[in-house]
Amino acid sequence: MDTLIFATNNQHKVDEVRQVLGNQFALITLKEAGIDIDIPEPHDSLEANASEKSFTIHELTGKNCFSEDTGLEISFLNGAPGVKSARFAGEDRSFEANIEKVLQLMADTTQRQAQFRTVISLILDGKEFQFEGICEGEILTEERGEKGFGYDPIFSPSGSKLSFAEMNPDEKNACSHRKKAMDKLIAFLQTKK
Ligand code: IMP
Repeated sequence: MDTLIFATNNQHKVDEVRQVLGNQFALITLKEAGIDIDIPEPHDSLEANASEKSFTIHELTGKNCFSEDTGLEISFLNGAPGVKSARFAGEDRSFEANIEKVLQLMADTTQRQAQFRTVISLILDGKEFQFEGICEGEILTEERGEKGFGYDPIFSPSGSKLSFAEMNPDEKNACSHRKKAMDKLIAFLQTKK
């Protein structure tokens, strides 16, 4: 198989995905492929946004590629911010403002259950395949930790006392939504080798 393009501009995602992939498959980023675009995420589902991103890059390059879209789904907020996770507190996509908004909305509840959900869209030889990864956990009452990105400081996965932002990359990767979706992608790609 040719090199696979990972259709994202998010360096945190690239780092996590590269760590999961190891040297099993050669991956290049948009930057490395010389592509400088802000890929649209206009839809109301993770599945549709992931498709839009991977098809956009496939149409530009004609190459095999994959993208992913991730949302934080909070039960008390009826699944919000979900597909709107990046822009929950506004168009500037501030991690800090998004976290503050979640903490404010949940200030008076003990119902803290939440999950991260990742949908990967792979375009292989012009055909699309999707893979989902879910990580269940809870929303903390305050920020903890400095590592990671996005909502990591306020999310603690089930079975751990740590927030994602208190974990080393390999600890987050041991249970994360993105890793679970990547494992399915890798298993699928192995069958195509
Ligand atoms: P997107 O998939 O890039 O659209 O991300 C949606 C939002 O969720 C952004 O605000 C990200 O920072 C956040 N996000 C995505 N993945 C993670 C994660 O693994 N941990 C914490 N926040 C994340």
